Amino acid sequence: MSTIAAHLDDVLSRISRATADAGRPAGSVRLLAVSKTFGADAVREAVAAGQRAFGENYVQEALDKIAATDDARVEGEPLEWHFIGPLQSNKTRPVAEHFDWVHSVDRLKIAERLSAQRPADLPPLQVCLQVNISGEASKSGVTPDEVPAVARAIAALPNLTLRGLMAIPEPEDDPSRQREPFKAVHELFDTLRAEGLALDTLSMGMSGDLEAAVAEGATMVRIGTAIFGARDYGSRA
Ligand SMILES: *Cc1c(COP(=O)(O)O)cnc(C)c1O
Repeated sequence: MSTIAAHLDDVLSRISRATADAGRPAGSVRLLAVSKTFGADAVREAVAAGQRAFGENYVQEALDKIAATDDARVEGEPLEWHFIGPLQSNKTRPVAEHFDWVHSVDRLKIAERLSAQRPADLPPLQVCLQVNISGEASKSGVTPDEVPAVARAIAALPNLTLRGLMAIPEPEDDPSRQREPFKAVHELFDTLRAEGLALDTLSMGMSGDLEAAVAEGATMVRIGTAIFGARDYGSRA
């Protein structure tokens, strides 16, 4: 078994255990493999092990990788590409044209551009609204107060499907303190659903805190390091 296949196995076991510990149904948490900084070969190894959904942060790097893995299939289905990084408004077009999902929609203007630029022959772009749960001015995301109004506006756009919320809490090594921000995001999600929005996705949890995220209701965890290893940003400008 390749290293990536063995790591994927470990991560899937962690997810299954956390799902069972939380008393949630088996299979209710999806794994997004975050392949940023790793090449097409790493993606192919993960595909050979059965992984189909991949997350990327940098537009040009992702476009190259999507093109280089165009022939890759898992059980006959093409790969699914999720954009999860900060998105500037001048980069929305290639994302609207080449991705299946965007988790990092952090203002209405970005959503409007993605909707306008989504090609008519593709299904709606699946999106999550990113919430700034740690309340830091430096962090991307809509503040919790603003979430309901922005979510309603995005849900009304024609070529997007608003699936839920995404959050990246401050890194916290102490597992007993990891759950609180995830719980707050889940409460916000429940509020939106109670107001009638048909949401099904809570994108939260990374290599260091996936158990806490699953315990608080994550439906998709975004895992990079635990699958592909440590990232080397050295060659990146
Ligand atoms: C890089 C990244 C991840 C993966 O983080 P790991 O700690 O390597 O698992 C998840 N989500 C986002 C938004 C990222 O940028």
